[in-house]
Amino acid sequence: MNKVGYPRVDINLEKLRHNAKKVNERCLDSGITMTGVIKGASGLPLVAKQYLEGGVKIIGTSRLDQVSDCKKFGIDTTYMLIRIPMLSEVRSVVELTDISLNSEVEVLKALNNEARIQDKQHKVIIMTDLGDLREGFWDKEELVETAVWVDEKLRNLTLAGIGTNVGCYGSILPTTDKLNELIELAEKIEERIGRELEFISGGATSSLMRIWDGDMPKRINHLRLGEGVLLARDLDVIYGYDMSMLHNDAFKIKAEVVEVKKKPSHPVGKVGVDAFGHRPNYVDRGMRDRMLLGIGRVDYGDPGELLPVDEGIEIMGASSDHTIVDIEDASRDFKVGDIVEFDVCYATIVYITSSNNVKINYV
Ligand SMILES: *Cc1c(COP(=O)(O)O)cnc(C)c1O
Repeated sequence: MNKVGYPRVDINLEKLRHNAKKVNERCLDSGITMTGVIKGASGLPLVAKQYLEGGVKIIGTSRLDQVSDCKKFGIDTTYMLIRIPMLSEVRSVVELTDISLNSEVEVLKALNNEARIQDKQHKVIIMTDLGDLREGFWDKEELVETAVWVDEKLRNLTLAGIGTNVGCYGSILPTTDKLNELIELAEKIEERIGRELEFISGGATSSLMRIWDGDMPKRINHLRLGEGVLLARDLDVIYGYDMSMLHNDAFKIKAEVVEVKKKPSHPVGKVGVDAFGHRPNYVDRGMRDRMLLGIGRVDYGDPGELLPVDEGIEIMGASSDHTIVDIEDASRDFKVGDIVEFDVCYATIVYITSSNNVKINYV
């Protein structure tokens, strides 16, 4: 019996370190510093540590409690808050982080006020929305005026740069056109304030496409990267980029078989709704061998995002605490107590690393 228990996630720190180092090097070769984003792995301090050991200098996340955990763990570095601060958390933003991404005048005023109280200089990156329709100023004139105002009037804030985010809500790609738009805005601001900005932050993992293609506009000098380091799967699977220099299996789920039986593939009786009030379509494939795993949606979110390592097995569905797997065509036999392994999609990692039911096992 394994002492760690199941279900569990095996996190390979060596692989994470390797990915961080490789991506950081590729960025530096293109004149880009990166923020290592930890939110996708629920901010686990040991994940943050691998970024640093890979040479990354700034750790970023959307949630302040993750920063607090990393600091308590002894990870002493520069921290960037990558979600627009809530007014109600401004004090902790100044206390815990060095840089934040911003898009609201009222929040900037509150940050400045709080930084004065704490006798600190807090750096801000002003976000512009270039079409993805999540955070950032839409009105470009307003963006430039706000940046200049921060620089001239808010004495405890340092205008560190501007940034944008794409590919999150609006599925917009970081094309060279979009990034040049960002640079144009940055240069407008630079002209007004009479100095160069420290950061022109050109997005997240999807912007690595520009580095891989070798057409990243020169003045983009910063990216905020999570998926491309922690999993390094999306650019390959979705866009066909060669990511073979990186590991795409640093996170693996291991779950235990709790039942193995032959059953009909179509439910028997009058069909109503499932555990979630939905009416799924069931395909009748006759009697099939299948197994039940002691892991469910509560632990990983969407069963469609689990990638079985064993060949010939197929996830039929899941309820909160069970996963049903068809093993009729499996390449091996399964019995109760066996362990089944899955690779993951990026969105799954945040669930399995934050579920109380899933043990975390560093390998
Ligand atoms: C989550 C996030 C990132 C990192 O995104 P990845 O696709 O995981 O690289 C970068 N910037 C912002 C503002 C984010 O919210």
